[in-house]
Amino acid sequence: MNQLAQLDQKFVWHPFTQMRDWLRREPLVIVEGQGAVLHDAKGREFLDANASIWTNLHGHRHPKINAAIQRQLKKIAHSSALGLANEPASRLAGKLVNAANSISPAECRLNKVFFSDDGSTALEVALKLAYEFTRRARAKPLERGRRPSVKTARSPQPRFISLAGAYHGDTIGAVSLGHIDRFHKAYGGMLFKSDKVMSPYCYRCPFNQAKPERADAREYRKCHWECVGKVEQKFSAQKNKGNPFAAFVFEPLMQGAAGMVPQPTGWLRQIAEIARSHGALLIADEVMTGFGRTGRAGAESGKRKADTLFASHQEGVQPDFLCVAKGLTGGYLPMAATLTTREIFDAFLGEYEEFKTFFHGHSFTGNQLGAAAALASLELLQSKKSIGQRGQLQQQLHDELQSLWVLPHIGDIRQVGLVAGIELVKDWRTRAPYALRERAGIRVCAAMARRGVLTRPVGDVIVLMPPYCTTRTQLRKMVAALAESAQEVI
Ligand code: PMP
Repeated sequence: MNQLAQLDQKFVWHPFTQMRDWLRREPLVIVEGQGAVLHDAKGREFLDANASIWTNLHGHRHPKINAAIQRQLKKIAHSSALGLANEPASRLAGKLVNAANSISPAECRLNKVFFSDDGSTALEVALKLAYEFTRRARAKPLERGRRPSVKTARSPQPRFISLAGAYHGDTIGAVSLGHIDRFHKAYGGMLFKSDKVMSPYCYRCPFNQAKPERADAREYRKCHWECVGKVEQKFSAQKNKGNPFAAFVFEPLMQGAAGMVPQPTGWLRQIAEIARSHGALLIADEVMTGFGRTGRAGAESGKRKADTLFASHQEGVQPDFLCVAKGLTGGYLPMAATLTTREIFDAFLGEYEEFKTFFHGHSFTGNQLGAAAALASLELLQSKKSIGQRGQLQQQLHDELQSLWVLPHIGDIRQVGLVAGIELVKDWRTRAPYALRERAGIRVCAAMARRGVLTRPVGDVIVLMPPYCTTRTQLRKMVAALAESAQEVI
């Protein structure tokens, strides 16, 4: 066994990995990358078909991002944001605000940026800000008038609601918002309670009366938007309890870890209206979807912004919190940001001794190397070349995926921009799923790896999320490897 693989097996504990399985085989050791290609320690080549767990945008070792990091490294790698500003983080905050308000630049609602390290921390920040903002807002009438009574001191805790199948990260706050039993149930005792509401999983929706067809279930669904009615009911019921939801947390357009569950056009717009009409703040988790990942879907509608980098905007929704990570630095360095409004920001202003300060921060907040990479990535994203390339890749992905419908074990193929989820089923006519012990998704991905294509399944959903620089030939190879592997394994 390769020496690096030996060291890994001896000492490293991998995330989301059954280590007993891991220790049974020699792991792949990645030593280099170029564009959409990864090289391992044995000199083999692989296509990075899930963009290194949904992070990479422009490909590996992009000359512009590499140069930006190297330029910054010649100045300084890191200084603290606790008490100090720095050059690339200041610039990046400005650029992020511009990008996040392209939906309505004059209003410029999202105008404050809190930096952190990864998707989970971006969500924690939004969660704590929304919680404390709501507490303060609800306590306001008393501040102006009477002294607080014991009853007010015990006023109900602000409550959060997220979607069935939600995944927002692995820190305790983010896990509290999660609704994937397999990941989250064991920690129930450590979590705060959040509510969940039906997500629009058209392929497996109990309200969808359509028989399975060889097309994305959103296209042939037969329903009356019962899922939207469920959301309305949930918000109304909570309001009637005298403690309306403080915030609604959602992944816009597509839920990733839930199984690449896409939302039908118009769903998010309606849900956002319901949440707002009940006074809830909107927390958009664009950790996966941000920075052009969801392509240009919906660009045809006049109100939608064709070239926005964010999924929420494609549905005309501007949230109160926009959480970004993964692709922020082009997938090069761990950095995240939570953008929010002046209203939220102002609720934390006060005299020093009032302790209204947001007491939260991480050692690497506003890291210069990360910010330099992010600035370079944003510049690339906003270039005509990248916009054109993404549009083309989205169409090519769509065209290539059509070849999979002939396979009987493909139940649903759902694509949102440059993300695709391909759901494997025992029988497409009945949508019958595989038994857990069959590990269909895992086995298909292992067979794809043998064909030189790397991705990870979400259950029995195979994810294709090509870096934006992926060529048509590489894309074809990704889809062909999936088709051959599905035929070989199942
Ligand atoms: N939100 C979403 C939608 C995610 O997909 C993820 C990670 N897969 C996270 C949050 C957590 O991000 P991180 O792993 O960077 O903490």
